[in-house]
Amino acid sequence: MTTFNALLLDKREISPGVFFLTFENGKQYALDFKAGQYVVATIPTAQGAVKRLYSIASSPLDTSMFNLLVKRVEGGIGSVYLSELLPGKTITLSGPAGLFSLQESPTHKVFLATGTGLAPIRSFLSTYKSMRCSLFWGVPTIEDAGFLDYFKEIRENNPLFDYYICLSRETLETLKQAQNEVVFFPGRINVVMELYLGPTLKGQGKNQFEYYVCGSRTVVDSLKTYLFSLGVEKSNVFFEKY
Ligand SMILES: Cc1cc2nc3c(=O)[nH]c(=O)nc-3n(C[C@H](O)[C@H](O)[C@H](O)COP(=O)(O)OP(=O)(O)OC[C@H]3O[C@@H](n4cnc5c(N)ncnc54)[C@H](O)[C@@H]3O)c2cc1C
Repeated sequence: MTTFNALLLDKREISPGVFFLTFENGKQYALDFKAGQYVVATIPTAQGAVKRLYSIASSPLDTSMFNLLVKRVEGGIGSVYLSELLPGKTITLSGPAGLFSLQESPTHKVFLATGTGLAPIRSFLSTYKSMRCSLFWGVPTIEDAGFLDYFKEIRENNPLFDYYICLSRETLETLKQAQNEVVFFPGRINVVMELYLGPTLKGQGKNQFEYYVCGSRTVVDSLKTYLFSLGVEKSNVFFEKY
């Protein structure tokens, strides 16, 4: 892993408390990564530096910049620091690192992510633009669902991509009131996934997918347990735990 200083070019709050950061690449140092990998951020504190890991949320095909997607955890050392970093400032990063990557096979990919677990999946979607894939992204409410224009654009360019934004704190009733778009579904990821891939999941077809799971340790563990309970083979499940 190489250590380098990365210049922050832009920072956007894409939904409450979730920040999309754009760093310059290729000028001072060229970060050469594979879709799905992460960087290690060195966070200065009064007690000394601490390290935090962040998945790269953009494609290695774009060599001029890279993105991170950071959820601000109140009282959290790394996430608060990054959410308050101003464009024009630099941060020390090391990387790339990590083995979470996409199998380059024609197999239909099923992406299961919650919150900022979307970051490496976004890197996959931005890199492999014609793969057959389904995204089930879990966030609590409509307000938390950023990137709608991004998903729309990916879908317009890839008819083999479908996506379902799974809203754990919404109900059919609240969604109706919000006159939402068709991509929103009330409920947790596994419930929505079963609804849309149901017949295939119950038969032999479940092992015709590759599953990529990313999110907090608890979420990843429970989704893995769920997939295995359906009879999905371990060799078809790839995951990154935050
Ligand atoms: C491989 C890998 C990739 C990762 N990629 C990302 C990424 O792309 N985006 C991202 O935002 N994070 C990512 N993380 C998590 C990230 O590394 C930090 O753990 C996270 O930002 C919290 O760090 P912190 O320093 O802000 O909080 P800390 O100072 O470590 O913790 C402060 C308090 O908050 C609690 N806490 C920690 N995380 C959470 C949470 N998510 N929700 C609620 N409470 C919490 C802790 O238990 C503690 O009590 C990744 C982790 C790994 C292992």
